[in-house]
Amino acid sequence: MNKIVILGAGYAGLTAAVSLAGRTRRREDVQITIVNAEERFTERLRLHQTASGQRLADLRIPELLAGTRVEFVRGWVTGIDVAGRRVRIDDEREFEYDRLVYALGTAADTVAVPGVDEHAHTLDSAHNAEMLARRLASLGSGTVAVCGSGLTGAEAAAEIAEQHPGLDVVLLGKREPGSTMGPKARGYLHIALARLGVRVVSGVEIVKVRPGSVDVADGASIAADIVLWTSGVRVPPLAAAAGLRVDDTGRAVTDPALRSVSHPQVYVIGDAAAIQQGYGVMHGTCQSGMPTGVHAATSIVRELDGKQPRPFRFGYLHTPVSLGRRDAVVQFTRPDDSPKRLFLSGRTAVWYKETVSSAPWPSFQRLKAFPAMGSFAWRRGGRFTR
Ligand SMILES: Cc1cc2nc3c(=O)[nH]c(=O)nc-3n(C[C@H](O)[C@H](O)[C@H](O)COP(=O)(O)OP(=O)(O)OC[C@H]3O[C@@H](n4cnc5c(N)ncnc54)[C@H](O)[C@@H]3O)c2cc1C
Repeated sequence: MNKIVILGAGYAGLTAAVSLAGRTRRREDVQITIVNAEERFTERLRLHQTASGQRLADLRIPELLAGTRVEFVRGWVTGIDVAGRRVRIDDEREFEYDRLVYALGTAADTVAVPGVDEHAHTLDSAHNAEMLARRLASLGSGTVAVCGSGLTGAEAAAEIAEQHPGLDVVLLGKREPGSTMGPKARGYLHIALARLGVRVVSGVEIVKVRPGSVDVADGASIAADIVLWTSGVRVPPLAAAAGLRVDDTGRAVTDPALRSVSHPQVYVIGDAAAIQQGYGVMHGTCQSGMPTGVHAATSIVRELDGKQPRPFRFGYLHTPVSLGRRDAVVQFTRPDDSPKRLFLSGRTAVWYKETVSSAPWPSFQRLKAFPAMGSFAWRRGGRFTR
């Protein structure tokens, strides 16, 4: 029996699970187990909606996996013994594996800046987003500081401003929002934020979060009743603690086939992986995470059949950004994620973004039935990844 254990049932881990289930359904020699903290699938792409008080669909992982031979285990992964090929769950149960798929994602960095861990909210889990939603609902009036002017920060600021028009929303960060987009899409983003009443303060380095304020490097302090932290990337320490080779952010470094460079029986996928492409190391997105899940599944099946796995190649397609429920902007990109001239805005962009955000769950169901479809579902990147 080939025991395959998948850690994490987010976008990447679930893609790997359903693809593997589909590709091995006629084999009797494969046993697949997936471990996740929650039974409910976390639609991370929509956590800013949760945080602003909206209810999301209740998507249950065991229901998705019904009819497959994938065993779902609810639990918290506490350790990996790569020498003994075992994972520990909740410090009490152990599961053996022949191949491990590590897909535990990342979180915002709440450690680098003092006070963030104690006084700021994050969008790192549905639970955290719901806590923020409750505080926003009870605030009535006051200031919400959204720290981090990346796309998550911009989406969250827009969503909160639209759902809570009585609140003053300020978006703080080093870069201006939309800095990775082309000038037209960026300009559109700024106008939309201004229309929603979001105050943008760029070029500031946040040095401390206190109860009731955020301190920036020039000595100024910005009053804030609620702080949302979206900046930086923190990787769960499990990979490094297990001895997998990690980069300076803690992501596990992979070979071209997505196996750990130090432990080839461990595939690392999604945000938790540092994957080198021709244009550099990929940054974490759902757009790239799902293809890594398909590739890991395909590679494992190739290995079971005695073949070598192929290299993973990926090129970005777009950067879709919601601006509340009634507006959005979508920047189309080259495979290396640099912006093209083409972008969408307004209602067409709202439709596009909504299609992208709702696509993963039905895609999981399709991959379960037609796993071969997964191999055609992403851009390989042409000359950018050769
Ligand atoms: C508000 C927001 C908006 C975003 N919008 C976009 C977008 O528009 N487009 C895009 O491409 N990307 C977007 N992203 C990024 C995207 O969500 C991530 O890149 C994606 O979720 C990565 O998938 P993953 O499977 O690697 O990790 P995740 O989806 O984070 O899944 C990790 C899973 O592992 C589980 N887990 C973690 N640690 C443990 C443990 N120790 N034990 C058990 N289970 C554990 C978690 O509960 C989770 O289920 C957005 C992110 C946020 C926060």
